[in-house]
This record gives sequence, structure tokens and C-alpha cells, in this order.
Amino acid sequence: MPLNRAIRRHISLCRRPLIGWWLLCLTSVSARLSRSSWKAETADPPGSLITPYIYPVTWPEDDIFRQTISLLIVTNIGAYILYFLFASLSYYFVYDHTLMKHPQFLKNQVYREIKYTVQSLPWMSIPTVSLFLLELRGYSRLYDDMGEFPYGWIQLIVSVISFLFFTDMLIYWIHRGLHHRLVYKRIHKPHHIWKITTPFASHAFHPVDGFLQGLPYHIYPFCFPLHKVVYLTLYILVNIWTISIHDGNYRVPKILRPFINGSAHHTDHHLFFDYNYGQYFTLWDRIGGSFKYPSSFEGKGPLSYMKNMTEEKCNNHAGNGWKNEKLFNGECTKHE
Ligand SMILES: [Zn+2]
Ligand SMILES: [Zn+2]
Repeated sequence: MPLNRAIRRHISLCRRPLIGWWLLCLTSVSARLSRSSWKAETADPPGSLITPYIYPVTWPEDDIFRQTISLLIVTNIGAYILYFLFASLSYYFVYDHTLMKHPQFLKNQVYREIKYTVQSLPWMSIPTVSLFLLELRGYSRLYDDMGEFPYGWIQLIVSVISFLFFTDMLIYWIHRGLHHRLVYKRIHKPHHIWKITTPFASHAFHPVDGFLQGLPYHIYPFCFPLHKVVYLTLYILVNIWTISIHDGNYRVPKILRPFINGSAHHTDHHLFFDYNYGQYFTLWDRIGGSFKYPSSFEGKGPLSYMKNMTEEKCNNHAGNGWKNEKLFNGECTKHE
């Protein structure tokens, strides 16, 4: 096969699932759109949703500007859907709403978290798309053919584990660097406005902060071979994990507590600042001397504070002839 054709074939192979998976995650309509857009080396199939309805026939599908526009649209829509879908699910089904009565919970906080995120995501997407573009055009080590993995499924599983440890390590040091006094105020402070977070704070970052903390997810496939389906699945899962460490649900199986950086750990990061910079594991906080055993596991976290406050309130009411009975939402009932 001539070299030129081989390179073109490689680029064509490299981009299919990358865009396709994002689109499959969006809507069934976009799935059709992606199928029609993958035919890079041939004319558009009849009935294509992209050409000529969105892009003119004269504009080649592998044109870099066309790819940039498509990626910007797909990345922004995908990010908003991921954020609103999973943060809302977490907010309504996982998040403990009694935390909203905590004294450090800000006025209109949920609205402000959402507003900040909605304004930041498009800016965050610009540098992110430049990296997606390099991946799309075949400069990374992303593959969609299992034949590229000589050790098959074992190599695939190892790549998942190494992806998690590699990105956890880089996020730790990037996050720790963002706490340096020279950059903190300008870049990372907006994420620390929220002391008692809700799931909607999960992506409320300054655009530079959000991009830098997402950078390790892009560095990995440029250094190590990774299956594209695995990559995009992990990309979605790490975003869900980011939501989960802001959800105020501190429950972690006891056996995993020393190893997993969960919501209780990250809450202490928001409250006490210099601890628990990690993303999934406590490993680098332990190595870097920044590990703090979560106050929530010692009965001193925000939820325990709210519980004590409610009990105190109930006891005061009891002294005034009220019956000491708590409701699930932290209120007392009145029984004279
Ligand atoms: Zn921080
Ligand atoms: Zn956070």
C-alpha cells in the first residue's frame, strides 16, 4: 500500500469511534450523523445529515477547519449533556439536601455553580478541542483495532488501570501547583468559593483550571496505546467521578476508605484547602504528605455538624414543651 494511502487510511480509522462515541452519547439522530460523516475517502452517502445540509459538498470531510467546527459543537453539547444529566441525577437522588442549611452554604449557591459552569465550559472546550483534533487526525496512540494490542484483553485491562493511576498522579501535581500563591487567586480560587459543594460545583472551574485538570486525560493517549472505546468510556466515567466527589455523600465501604479519594476527602479539600488534592486515590496525597483523614469519617464533617445543630434545636424545643422528634430533612416536629 502506498505510504500516502496508508496514512490516510490510518487517519480515517483513528477518527471514527472518537467522534462516533461522543455522538452516540448525544442523540440517536447524531448517531446517524456520525455514520454518514465517517466516510472520509468517499463521497457523502445519500441522505447524509451533514452534507449538503450542514456543510457544502465542496467542503472535504477531512478539512481541518470543518473538523474543528464539528468537534467544537460535539464537545460543547456533550459536555453540557454530561454535566446537566449526571449532576442533576446526583443532586436529586444522592446529594443530602440538609447540607444546604449549613452556615457555609452560600446564598443562591446552586444557581451560581451552574451559571459559572455554563459560562466556563465553552472557553474550556477551545484548548480541549485542539487536543481532540490532534487525536482525530491520528497523532495520538489511540486505536480501534484489537489487533493493535498484542496481549489482547489483558493489555486492555492494564491500560484502564494505568490510565487511572497515570491521570491521578498528574492531576495531583497539577492541582497542587494550582494552589501555589502565584496562580491560586487568578485560576483556582473560583472553584474554592464553594465550601459546602453540590454536584453542580463539580465543573465550576475557571476555564484554564478546568483545562489543566483535564489535560492528563489527553496526555495519556499520546504516550501510551489506548483503545478508543475504552478512552471515551473512561472520559465519561472520570467526569461522573468528578461529580461524585462533590455530592456530599460521604459513604465509602470501610475497606476502601484508606485508598479511595471520595466525597468526604474532597469536602475536606474544599474546607481545609491544603489537603487531599487527589482525584481517585489517596496514594499521591500520602506520598506528598498532604493526606488528611476525612473529618466526616470522625463524626466532625458538615453532615455531622448539621445533625448536631438539629439535635440542639430539637432539645431547645423540647425544653419549651416540644417533642424531640426529627424529620428526615432535619426539622423538628411539634407535639405539645
Ligand atoms: Zn483545590
Ligand atoms: Zn472540588
